[in-house]
Amino acid sequence: MYDCIIIGAGAAGLAAGRALHDSGKKVVLVEARDRIGGRAWTDTTLSPIPLELGAEFIHGEHVITHALLKQAGMRAMPAERASHQQWFIPPILHKLSALPQPLRDRWAEVASAYAALGEQQPQADCSLRDYLAQHTPTARWDESLEQMADVLLAQTCCAPLSGLSAWDLAHEMQVDRAGKQEFRLEQGYTALLDWYSRGLHIRLNTPVRTVHWQGEIGITTDDGFIPAQCLLVTVPVAILRAGTIQFHPPLPPSKQQDIESFRTEPATKLIYHFRNQHWTEAMRYICHPGVAARWWTPGEGRSNAPAIITAYLTAERARHIDLLEESEALALGLNELANLLNRPLTVLQADLIQAKRVSWGTDPYALGGYAHLPPGHAVARQRLADPVENVLYFAGEATAHDSNPQTVHGALESGLRAAREIADRSA
Ligand SMILES: Cc1cc2nc3c(=O)[nH]c(=O)nc-3n(C[C@H](O)[C@H](O)[C@H](O)COP(=O)(O)OP(=O)(O)OC[C@H]3O[C@@H](n4cnc5c(N)ncnc54)[C@H](O)[C@@H]3O)c2cc1C
Repeated sequence: MYDCIIIGAGAAGLAAGRALHDSGKKVVLVEARDRIGGRAWTDTTLSPIPLELGAEFIHGEHVITHALLKQAGMRAMPAERASHQQWFIPPILHKLSALPQPLRDRWAEVASAYAALGEQQPQADCSLRDYLAQHTPTARWDESLEQMADVLLAQTCCAPLSGLSAWDLAHEMQVDRAGKQEFRLEQGYTALLDWYSRGLHIRLNTPVRTVHWQGEIGITTDDGFIPAQCLLVTVPVAILRAGTIQFHPPLPPSKQQDIESFRTEPATKLIYHFRNQHWTEAMRYICHPGVAARWWTPGEGRSNAPAIITAYLTAERARHIDLLEESEALALGLNELANLLNRPLTVLQADLIQAKRVSWGTDPYALGGYAHLPPGHAVARQRLADPVENVLYFAGEATAHDSNPQTVHGALESGLRAAREIADRSA
């Protein structure tokens, strides 16, 4: 009999599995895919450098990922995209600090209102859009600011600007200990998680169908029933919302309500590999209000980096691009890139080695990028994390209420939090 069955072998499940296994518990991780890592997945076949198809950055210099990299003998490489961020106003790109006046001052007001959200939490919850519009007093909140806020702030959260709870974001800012610097992993997330999972008992290719959390406790898979003392659910909240895993008996109504509170929008990457580099070193992070709204260079900081550029789309933009055939989607992205780089489309077309679309919204075990909470539902994050009857535990990025949800380090920390709860139950 297992002490605990962990459902899902992404960052959260692996962290919980590592902690419980190392403290002597008998644990198994049951994973639907043929690989571990979930939404952190590095490709090593498309190019000479590891390419992140899902999570790409480490957000912060103080997060747990650095300690793991150190133990693994791996390296984080600084990613300086933030200070290089550029906004396209046809026909040229502008650094945010060098936008034409008066847009520069108006954007500075929006950015500082956003930065102050943690201290200026509104009395009643509202959308990020409404909060920003209300807190830019001397600026006229207009279409241009709304587009910038949507691309530069909301797209990062994989959500529409009007769909994000200001309270949830304010809470995250209040508990944020991550730091402002960003990094990529030299060997990629998969290499780190492979190292982290060494020695753990993991069953791949085993989708969990039913979770039995009363009476005889355990899970049902296509291979039958596996019993355990307790269960830890780490699948994306979008999977719970979709009802593809049955709970027997059904989850308490309050837990079901918390699950229903979350929204998960699609997230899609378009990755282009050229023979020659068509951008300058300064073009590390270029943004515009188009469909393929944000672009960056995964080879940043590597010597002899291949000429690869990635567009990252979320929410409505990703939904639009996912509905197209892959070749049409890639052609749309390339056309926008030619415009941004001020290069003839034919030149880029002729120089392209290969291109690829990665859609997380159509991935059956992710059903989207990462979850957010709409206005009025900020309390759901902490409540989703609460165990049910000391039998059923919850972890995963959406439950990271004391850290940064929507991130790998938030997912890792949520797994460690759940492991402590499980250890306490038997102490
Ligand atoms: C495109 C994209 C870009 C991102 N960029 C970043 C970034 O730059 N930095 C960052 O920190 N974070 C980023 N993230 C977010 C980060 O990837 C996630 O927050 C984190 O990986 C989530 O880990 P998790 O363990 O909570 O969930 P997951 O990684 O989704 O793990 C859950 C596991 O459950 C499995 N599962 C699902 N259904 C079942 C079932 N029925 N039975 C068994 N197993 C099941 C899944 O296959 C999966 O392996 C990005 C995510 C995406 C999609």
